[in-house]
Amino acid sequence: MKNTSGDQISKIEVKDLNLWFDTKHVLKDVSIEIYEKEITAIIGPSGCGKSTFLRCLNRMNDLIPSTKIEGEILLDGKNVLANDIDPVDLRKDVGMVFQKPNPFPKSIYENIVFAPKIHGVEEVKKDPRTNKEKIVRRKPTKDELDQIVEKCLRRAALWDEVKDRLNKSAYDLSGGQQQRLCIARTMSIEPEVILFDEPCSALDPIATAKIEDLLVDLRKDYTVVIVTHNMQQAARVADRTAFFYMGDLVEYGPTKKLFEKPEKELTEQYLTGRM
Ligand code: ADP
Ligand code: MG
Repeated sequence: MKNTSGDQISKIEVKDLNLWFDTKHVLKDVSIEIYEKEITAIIGPSGCGKSTFLRCLNRMNDLIPSTKIEGEILLDGKNVLANDIDPVDLRKDVGMVFQKPNPFPKSIYENIVFAPKIHGVEEVKKDPRTNKEKIVRRKPTKDELDQIVEKCLRRAALWDEVKDRLNKSAYDLSGGQQQRLCIARTMSIEPEVILFDEPCSALDPIATAKIEDLLVDLRKDYTVVIVTHNMQQAARVADRTAFFYMGDLVEYGPTKKLFEKPEKELTEQYLTGRM
């Protein structure tokens, strides 16, 4: 996605991000620009801060007491760390999929309609007095919910496999199908960014390949950030890759360049298994 002058459009701009859990300094002066409709991979050894970094982007770290955070995270230019940002609203724009598939203990159908039922659907209404259009949220109809279910399941490449058993428990699905259901559920809130934390590490190679194909396809509509300890996975799916080491962002750039011609000695050591 390029703007009129041919540059990539920045979706998330992280500036001098620092994070402490109590006295432990976990993220150190991290600055990174994440681009719209690209896949950005975050790689690095276990404990280097990948998940913590990802959770900053939708303020999931707010849920961990004793977290101290400094810096800025601009989403479309707006600082999501500002006091007046409601994290629940933010998470409608920035959805998240976790390592272990975690569907609700409900039917496939109910997993998808859960959020739209709570948050409602948007409708453009004309004020008869001023003739101005405004967006209102209202309760979705049964037909609309059916459409949301079909659309999200199709988008997550799961529709054909489950269309005849939408009222069956989500737990009847295989691990890979459950993960695709979780991706479909995230789509039901119409996010712009989707964060994935090791989405394939609980899955077998065939289920992993399906999720990777889906990730690449999602790039058409979403900005994707994926944490993975699997370097080959980053190389297969990501436009850009960021290498973290002990809370520092060591190197960040186009995936091919980072893997084939890393600039930093630490990156090279990690990529060649000498770490
Ligand atoms: P990664 O995802 O790269 O494996 P994490 O982001 O999970 O790493 O963890 C980074 C560091 O922060 C680790 O040292 C970890 O022990 C610590 N950490 C993570 N979560 C918490 C927490 N809730 N409380 C205290 N320390 C934590
Ligand atoms: Mg992690």
